[in-house]
Amino acid sequence: MSDVILEARNIVKHYPVTRGLLQRTVGWVRAVDGVSFTVEDGKTLSLVGESGAGKTTIAKQILLLERLTSGNIFFQGKDIYKYSASELKKNYRPNIQTVQQNPWSSMNPRMRVRDVVGEPIFVNTKLPKNEVYQDVGKLLEQVGIGAEGMSRYPHEFSGGQRQRIAVARAMALHPELLVLDEPVSALDVSIRAQIMNLLKDLQTQYNLSYLVIAHNLATVRYMSHSIAIMYLGQLVEYGESEVLFKNPLHPYTRALISASQLTLPEDAKDSSKQIILSGEMPSPLNPPSGCRFHTRCTEVMDICSKEIPEMKTIGTQQVKCHHYK
Ligand code: SF4
Repeated sequence: MSDVILEARNIVKHYPVTRGLLQRTVGWVRAVDGVSFTVEDGKTLSLVGESGAGKTTIAKQILLLERLTSGNIFFQGKDIYKYSASELKKNYRPNIQTVQQNPWSSMNPRMRVRDVVGEPIFVNTKLPKNEVYQDVGKLLEQVGIGAEGMSRYPHEFSGGQRQRIAVARAMALHPELLVLDEPVSALDVSIRAQIMNLLKDLQTQYNLSYLVIAHNLATVRYMSHSIAIMYLGQLVEYGESEVLFKNPLHPYTRALISASQLTLPEDAKDSSKQIILSGEMPSPLNPPSGCRFHTRCTEVMDICSKEIPEMKTIGTQQVKCHHYK
């Protein structure tokens, strides 16, 4: 079994809702509510769920853009809140990089690609410019852009090429873990597989670990070793990717698999797995009682609105549903 590179242990992130001139707290948005998972060294864990499930909030905590309400995040066994400022700068931040859904947002359009990709190296090291550009050339070769792209500007590239440039930039400091936040969802379907394959190749070559954030299960199926399904701030199912696809236990996982079928070509769809999920996800400000999914579940029972289901282990999977005793 591989070593664990990142562990989230019972993490909670609540945001206050304030009102009035005095900004009195009148409620709490429970964006993430007691989530635990591990990312293994050199492997991919995908967090999957609809918008508002809490996935991006988790990414923000790992990237230290915000601070948890409670719980712990461990990187290589060490609680990230116990790093000193210099350790964070030297050992944590360079090792955890991110690729966002829209590469435009992280690129200054007035910077040439050599400076877009080289920026993290300029900021974090004292390497002379010519050496940085040498590294950038190698990175651009690795992601399939080629060193000749160095002097061009981001707008001269297609969406898929810009995402390759974003991957090169994320790789610039030789990180061990990449947080990939919807890395292909803004791209044409025809380009998505190319970027996924690039990420898989880089993972094999550098033993990179990935935490992928996605709303579409089909997109992440072939690059995930494990998948954690999130609903309204909580995990509802968690397990190995192939086992979860073959035998989804939670009604919400089955609904997501059904929804992801819609993106498949006609001849690849399995109509026996069609589940239509009705309604919107309720507000995390006032989550439903009992099982948070009960207002939309097609298999709801009396107990579901009254008692919170516990996370149970079934074989290699974990599932949070009253169907499993
Ligand atoms: Fe559906 Fe009840 Fe299971 Fe929740 S606990 S997923 S409402 S069957």
